[in-house]
Amino acid sequence: MELKLEDRVAIVTGGSSGIGLETVRLLLADGAYVVSCARRAEGLEQARAILAAQGAPVDRLVSQPCDVLDEASVERLTETVRTRFGRADILVNNAGQARLSTFASTLDADWEAELNLKFFSVIRPTRAFLPLLRESDAAAIVVVNSLLARQPEPHMVCTSAARAGVQNLVKSLSVELAPAIRVNAILLGTVNSGQWERRFKERAKPGQSMEDWLVELAREKHIPLGRFGKPEEAAAAILFLASPVAGFITGAALEVAGGVSRFA
Ligand code: NDP
Repeated sequence: MELKLEDRVAIVTGGSSGIGLETVRLLLADGAYVVSCARRAEGLEQARAILAAQGAPVDRLVSQPCDVLDEASVERLTETVRTRFGRADILVNNAGQARLSTFASTLDADWEAELNLKFFSVIRPTRAFLPLLRESDAAAIVVVNSLLARQPEPHMVCTSAARAGVQNLVKSLSVELAPAIRVNAILLGTVNSGQWERRFKERAKPGQSMEDWLVELAREKHIPLGRFGKPEEAAAAILFLASPVAGFITGAALEVAGGVSRFA
């Protein structure tokens, strides 16, 4: 299926690693111009080198360090897009990470930090790019959210609650911004990415390979498809929702979770 992304301008937050990086790769492969951001410049440089080595058209990629929680930093990113392209068609709010904590172990400061991250990583870029997106004839925002929004986990209490709130926000945005801008979310289960590489280093048994550790975890988590997702599988769902092909879809939450959801 042709996604009709040729020459579209897409912004991907958290584009230096994992799902964001794969989203950048697929967007470039489909002929889009991409503006990718992350906090660390070296991560963005590494990502560009990886993409170039894979033969991606990196002349269509603009990378800029930006903390999506920092208003001035997001404003600078918007300015870059405005100056360089004068337009924006797609915003992928992907930047972030999870917090492992139970109710008992989550301090007030942790709650504040987590709610701030989950909400403002969507609010700030969305607000900043609205004027440009409104001018597009096929504007779309995709929020990378988690199945935790619907199915909380006891070891991720605060992240789960924040995810549920973000999903509620996605629904409100999809109504308020219609018909000019479509707003959808993907609800991820477990996808093998930078987050899981970090957890592997902290938690795996001595001598255990990452592959074996993920197989063991997939079994423990009772994932019906029997494995973790691949970043490119999450990215493919993002591209579909972002593309004009999904022109009648807004306010949707697409599960990319290997069947682990208990919702019919
Ligand atoms: P990675 O750790 O591989 O990538 C996270 C990306 O976000 C990096 O590019 C990181 O770069 C960037 N980032 C983090 N914080 C900020 C910030 N404040 N401003 C700008 N960029 C930021 O993770 P994933 O690919 O796994 O995660 C992508 C999204 O999917 C995240 O929001 C995550 O919470 C969500 N998710 C992932 C799941 C999974 O199983 N992988 C499950 C459910 C949700 P830098 O550190 O340089 O800023």
